[in-house]
Amino acid sequence: SDTSVPPARVRPLTCAETRRGDRRVVRSLGDSTVHVSATAPRGRGRRHPLSPSRACPQVSAARHDATFGFSAVFDAGTSQEAVFEGSGMRELVELAIGGFACTVFAFGQTGSGKTYTLMGPLAQSEAQPAAPCVLGLMQRSFACLLEQSRGAGLALSASYVEIYNEQVRDLLSPGPPCALPLRWSKSRGFYVENQLSVEFESLEGITELLLEGSRRRRSSAHALNKHSSRSHALLTVHVRSRARGAGGQGTLCFVDLAGSERVKDTGSAGELCVEANNINRSLLALGHCISLLAKPRGKRAHVPYRDSKLTRLLARALGGSGVTLMVACVSPSSRCLSETLSTLRYASRARSVTTRP
Ligand code: ADP
Ligand code: MG
Repeated sequence: SDTSVPPARVRPLTCAETRRGDRRVVRSLGDSTVHVSATAPRGRGRRHPLSPSRACPQVSAARHDATFGFSAVFDAGTSQEAVFEGSGMRELVELAIGGFACTVFAFGQTGSGKTYTLMGPLAQSEAQPAAPCVLGLMQRSFACLLEQSRGAGLALSASYVEIYNEQVRDLLSPGPPCALPLRWSKSRGFYVENQLSVEFESLEGITELLLEGSRRRRSSAHALNKHSSRSHALLTVHVRSRARGAGGQGTLCFVDLAGSERVKDTGSAGELCVEANNINRSLLALGHCISLLAKPRGKRAHVPYRDSKLTRLLARALGGSGVTLMVACVSPSSRCLSETLSTLRYASRARSVTTRP
């Protein structure tokens, strides 16, 4: 069995945060710890959708002074390349090539840098591709996969789906989005029926699939993040041997979670509010599954993967035979203090989840 110890990333303050005078209250002390230090107004702690328990015993209500340990900590100045090399992502790519089911996801509140960590700032148009230095874990993994599969007789293909309002939709098939059924079988576990899987042989090929799918993803502007994703997106690369009769295939799944959010803070109303509730429902279910999985096997109650589409699709990654890398993303801003503390606490809980790859 393998213990997944998550790394954490603290993004820099954004221009908007600096302009409105937010203070930086989250720092790395350079020894794989994250230090949170702030004086906050007294008040009732708010509940984070990813953490079922709201109690935070190490910190007092007024003075927050807490230190959390991780496998690695990437502070504001850390490059995308250093995150790729330091997070264990390269090892995960190698495991996928070796036939394991691998999953990586970033989690944290809206605007904490999850999408940036996974794919960088996506190119606005084909004429303006993103600079190589800001490419995220996904593009770097694709390059690594392609390099290693060359000459090794491996075929690579990709599928890309989103979970939007508790419906699974194919992001690669042309035309208006239609819901795909989520099924279960003894040999495959939960799987999406009829999802498109497209072969690729070059970095341009898979980058185009990523852009095409991301454009289809529903996004709408709201107060916290102009380009906030309103859906959870799962891009899976399937690694298969071209040799006839070679059994088993490795997979590498990238999960871009929609952010947890409080309806009040984002000014969501109407349709946006329904979306927010569905997003939070999946994240609550995910948080619940992970906290159960973190208990010793003997003391563990039934893990309710069936509570949401997201947890069904991640069932194998979380508790089964997969290898999973989680990256905890937090904002350094004083305004995000309570969400940041919840994410860090949640991340230190997730580190004790074990799987049997
Ligand atoms: P999330 O996906 O968690 O909602 P984003 O990845 O969209 O958050 O990040 C929110 C904003 O912060 C974006 O404008 C993004 O470009 C910026 N950002 C996030 N992480 C970093 C980073 N490490 N360096 C520079 N900018 C970042
Ligand atoms: Mg995002």
